[in-house]
This record gives sequence, structure tokens and C-alpha cells, in this order.
Amino acid sequence: MKQFKTEGKKLLDLMINSIYTNKEIFLRELISNASDALDKLSFEGLTDESKRVDETLAIDLSFDKDARTITVADNGIGMTAEELDENLGTIAHSGSQEFKRQNADAQGDAVDIIGQFGVGFYSSFMVAKRVRVVSRALGEDVAHAWESDGVSGYSIDEVAEADLPEALRGERAHGTQITLFLRDSTEEDDTDQFLSEWKLRDLVRQYSNYVRYPIRMMVTKSREKPAPDPKPDDYKPEYEDYQELETLNSMTPIWKKRKSDVEQKDYDEFYTSTFHDWEKPLRTLSFHAEGAISYDALLFIPSVAPFDLYSKDYQKGLALYSSSVLIQEKCADLLPDYYNFVHGIVDSPDVTLNISRETLQQNSQLRAIARRIEKKVTAELEDMRDNDREAYEKFFKNFGRGLKFGIYNSYGSKADELADLLLFWSARDEKMVTLKEYVAGMAEGQEKIYYAAGETRELLAQTPAVRSALAHGYDVLLCTEDVDEFMFQFLRSYHVDAVAGDSEHKGTEARDLELQNVADANLDLANEDEKKEAEKATEENKDLFGELKDALDGRVADVKVSANLDEDTPATVTAEGPVSLEMERRLQQSPEA
Ligand code: ADP
Ligand code: MG
Repeated sequence: MKQFKTEGKKLLDLMINSIYTNKEIFLRELISNASDALDKLSFEGLTDESKRVDETLAIDLSFDKDARTITVADNGIGMTAEELDENLGTIAHSGSQEFKRQNADAQGDAVDIIGQFGVGFYSSFMVAKRVRVVSRALGEDVAHAWESDGVSGYSIDEVAEADLPEALRGERAHGTQITLFLRDSTEEDDTDQFLSEWKLRDLVRQYSNYVRYPIRMMVTKSREKPAPDPKPDDYKPEYEDYQELETLNSMTPIWKKRKSDVEQKDYDEFYTSTFHDWEKPLRTLSFHAEGAISYDALLFIPSVAPFDLYSKDYQKGLALYSSSVLIQEKCADLLPDYYNFVHGIVDSPDVTLNISRETLQQNSQLRAIARRIEKKVTAELEDMRDNDREAYEKFFKNFGRGLKFGIYNSYGSKADELADLLLFWSARDEKMVTLKEYVAGMAEGQEKIYYAAGETRELLAQTPAVRSALAHGYDVLLCTEDVDEFMFQFLRSYHVDAVAGDSEHKGTEARDLELQNVADANLDLANEDEKKEAEKATEENKDLFGELKDALDGRVADVKVSANLDEDTPATVTAEGPVSLEMERRLQQSPEA
């Protein structure tokens, strides 16, 4: 019996029990190793004609309920006794990494191998009390078996031809067969679940669906027995079970295909089944990068918001694959918070698993991909805003709130960029407008962007402040979401680029337009005559107003005649200072206040 070449059993023990929280990923690890071995074989064949094989490269999965075993077999490159020792006897030694190094110049796109850390194989001990690896390297006369309980050490023995599994018999055979002897099933440690066709199929679909080699399993199917001829009148069909070798994975990832090669209905189908949405996506984005960082990305903007989008439980993120093997189901780092509604997949051979946790290591690469994703989503939204307003309004109804929170939580140019994605209800035009459109429709001499915040558009439209602004020729954006006013407070101003003049139009300089709440009592829309009249009226009624103010006993700051009111609304209460009445009310309602 050989000892593991590491600081010892402790490390192994630690890894088995803590690295992976999800025990079921052992299957993903074994399958991706098998896929790597098939990659290596095809790579060898490319560079050395004598090593070229013409059989179907495949991964075969099977299980035995009585023996409580699961077997993963491949006809890949296989391992010699030395390689078994090197690769499986040394924790954290990665044969894949070694192979990559040796072939660094030649490899190019031909080989991309997931998992640069040698921990993958050991994940089998999370479910197995014993693991047996029988392997025959390509071109070797003999095959060997590596066996271990994962703790005390391991043994390597030659296997007599007659004792080999059929697939590894014969001089030209090559490949590896890994058998897991599952631990006894207990309540906390349910290993029985893996001894089922359904479960294994499910795990393959979930984690390895897009591995590019077929993952096959003998499955039991049922069929109708042939009816006797002639059919008796009282004939009832009989059924029988039969076995069939089925390919469990879909093999070609849809995200690797060019958008022009895929029909929208296939994207829709993929989207609804993968992301559990019953509505088709509003937009589908597919893009690919090659070079310093290579990746394929397939993103979706949903049509409707999931019910929990604005709750604390909602988890944003994109599925992250490396060479078609799932690394993380929801990689949050790939999306900014304000695009948390985006669903999709990123597949890059350039990202690898971190050894200590199931998080990602090469964060700089991830950040580069994330920046690109954000740009793509922004461009898509802008396109929708400018060319399909109906769809965009639908989008905005569902996800606009998140964009507003994005402004509230971001800085500088990002906030400006997001501001251009917002839509507001125009009191004058009675439709949704962007800030840019608002500015384009501003009256001569108007220096600010006016908005009002309140419960409903109908109520807001009737307020004296809004009516007064409209009467003065100023449009008002009517805001009815709780986040609106906070967002405007934060944004303060909206940047307008310079516009070049021509023979008919005067050009304008770049400027920042202040965002002004019309309910602010300091707001002055009145002209000189209106103001004089109001002052006169206030002076004439001084005594009455003084008594009113006393009677209201400190609940108002002042009582006066306003030039901003008309006959229909002779009196109103306004707040002075930065916080409007509406915001004060919201603050009082919110539990933290
Ligand atoms: P990694 O895949 O990250 O290299 P693993 O622990 O998953 O680490 O596997 C360790 C090494 O064992 C691999 O690098 C590979 O050399 C070897 N190996 C594992 N499974 C197989 C297999 N099915 N066929 C050939 N070699 C394998
Ligand atoms: Mg591996």
C-alpha cells in the first residue's frame, strides 16, 4: 500500500469534507476528467498519426443497484501505472496542468481542459467509500488498477487480461473505467439517490449537458408488444421493457452557435426550459469573443419580472461554464446590480475553479467579461428604446425600478448613462418620455427639468404646482414610484451635450440642467406682475394670516398668498427645504424612519 504524497491524510480529509458543498458534483468532475482524456486522445491523434483512432469517442455511465456502484468509463487516452501513481496519488497535482504546459505551443484551440487543480477526482470520495480506477494507456500492453479508500493510501496493480472489463481488453484498447463503491446511505448522507437512472440523467443534464462527447447510459424503456395477426376483437395491448443505449447530453451548446444559425424559437425554447420562465424572452443577445480572453455569451432580457425580483432573496447572476462544463450556476460578478434581471450563460475556457471554494479565481478575466456584458446589455436597451418603444415601455414597466435604484447606488458617468435609459410620464404630452426628449421639448428660456412626485398620475396632474408649471409652458414629469424622488435628489442634474447650430436653429452649449421638484415652495415660476399682486394681497391680509398661523399652532411654517396658484386652487400647503411633502410622507411610512 502506497501513501498519498502530501502532508497527509488530514488534507485529503479536509478536502473531501469541505471543498464542495454539493456532493453531487462528483459526477461532473468524473465526466469532465473523461472528457479531458478524450480531448487528449484527439489531440495526440492530431500530432501523431500512429495514435489516430477511428472509433466513437464517448463517455459511458452505468450503475448497479445491488452492488451499490456507479461506473464512469471513457475510451480516452488512459493512464500507465506511473501516470496513475502521479495523477491520482498526489493531491493537488494536476496532470491536466502538466499536459497543458508540455503542449503550450502546439495546443491552440485543439485542447481546452477544465480544472487546473488536482482536486476534481477526489470529490468521488464524498460519496464513495472505495474507488477503483482501471486504465489502459494508448499503445500499452498492460492495464492497471488503482484502488483506494481515500484515506489510508492506495494500491496499483497490473490487471490480467481476463479480469479486464470488455472495453479495455485487447492490445488496441485504451481508456479508463472508474468505479465508485458508494458509502452506506444514511439520513444525512443519502447515497442511495445516486443509484437511479432518473437521478443520473438529471445530474448529467444539469451539469454536463454541453460536454461535447456523448454521455451514454443503458436505460430501460417500455414498448408495446406486437399484436397477433389477426387481432382478436378483445385485444388489449401488452407492454414489455427493453434496454437501449441513450445519449443523455445535448452535446452542442446553443451558446456556441452564431445567432444567424439558430432560429428564435430554439432560443425561446432553451430560455423557457433553462430559466423556468413561461414567457418568451423580450430580447436575446448572443456574442462571442476570441483573443486574450475567449468566451461565448448568450443572454436574455425577460419579458416579465420574476415575482421575487425586488426581494432580498433574489439572486442575480449568469451561469458560468468553462469549456462547456458548468462551474457556477449563478455567477453574480458577471452582472451589475441594475442589470440583475438578465439571464444567461457565459462559457469561457479561460476561467477555472478556485481550490478553496466554488468561487472563481481569475477575477480580472471575469471582470473583463463582465464589463463587456454590461456594455452589450446597455446597447441592447438603447436600441430597444430608440427603435421599439412599445417593447421598451414593457421592459421599463418591469425593470425600470431597478435602473432607478442603480442611479441611486452609482456614481458619476454611470448614473448619467442609466438616466438616459429611464422613462417618465409627461404631464403635457401624456405619454412616456426620456429625459432627452423632455429637454428637446423644453420651452424657450426654461432652465430646469421639472418633476412632481406623488401617489398617482391623476392626483399629481391636479395639483396646483403641476398646473401652474404647465400654465407657464413647462412640462412636468409625473413620478409615482417611491424611488423616484430619492433618485432625483441623488442625480440632481441632467447633462445635456452641446448641439451644433445651423441656419435655422440656434446651437446650444453643453450644460447641466437642474432637476427641480415643482412642489418646492421656493420654486418661482411667476412673473413680476403676478408676484407683486401676491405680495400686495399678503400685506392686505396680514392680520388674518397671522391668526391662521397661530391657530395652526406651529404645524405650518408660514401663511401667505402665492403667485403660483390659480382660482381653482386658492390655497395649498407646501414644504420648504429639500424634502417635499410627498417624500416626508414616504419617510414616515417606511419602517426604518
Ligand atoms: P484535474 O482534472 O484538474 O487535472 P483531477 O483530480 O480531476 O484534476 O484529475 C487528476 C488527473 O488524473 C488528471 O489531470 C488526469 O491526468 C488524470 N485523470 C483523471 N481521470 C482521468 C481519466 N478518466 N482518463 C485519463 N486521465 C485521468
Ligand atoms: Mg478534473
